[in-house]
Amino acid sequence: MKNLNKSEESIEEVINFLNNNIDASPFNQDDPIKCVHCLFRKIAILVLSKKIKIVKINFENKLDFNFKTDQEKNKQGSHWHNSIIENINIFLKNKNLETEKEPKMFFGRADLFVKKKKLYIEVGTINIYKLLCNINNMKDCCIHILSNEKNLVEIKL
Ligand SMILES: [Zn+2]
Repeated sequence: MKNLNKSEESIEEVINFLNNNIDASPFNQDDPIKCVHCLFRKIAILVLSKKIKIVKINFENKLDFNFKTDQEKNKQGSHWHNSIIENINIFLKNKNLETEKEPKMFFGRADLFVKKKKLYIEVGTINIYKLLCNINNMKDCCIHILSNEKNLVEIKL
């Protein structure tokens, strides 16, 4: 049973990473699967079977996301959400990257889409069931999840 214990440890490790770096939305009453741990577990298995790649990117090391934000604002509010999206949008436009607001995904919408990079950007809390559906049904694209102003989680599909 040693191997099984080992894979169980690896799954827990990825679940912890997801828990620590992605803010799950509390609004999930209509979702067929509501348990965030179970949803993260499904995503962790996709990571460990190498179907998707997930990495954490710190903004200090990546000038691509060197946008300025207003630290004083309330992080949970919609004002924070909107100002971050607006900052990213201006930043990308200054780099001549065309963006689309509230682009359609397989399920639901993201906050921003960068056409040239096939990159969907989600800011703030995210519905994890929606995320799993999109991971399972989209390919050849990338999702960036920004839960705070210091780093993001990149999911490559
Ligand atoms: Zn569960």
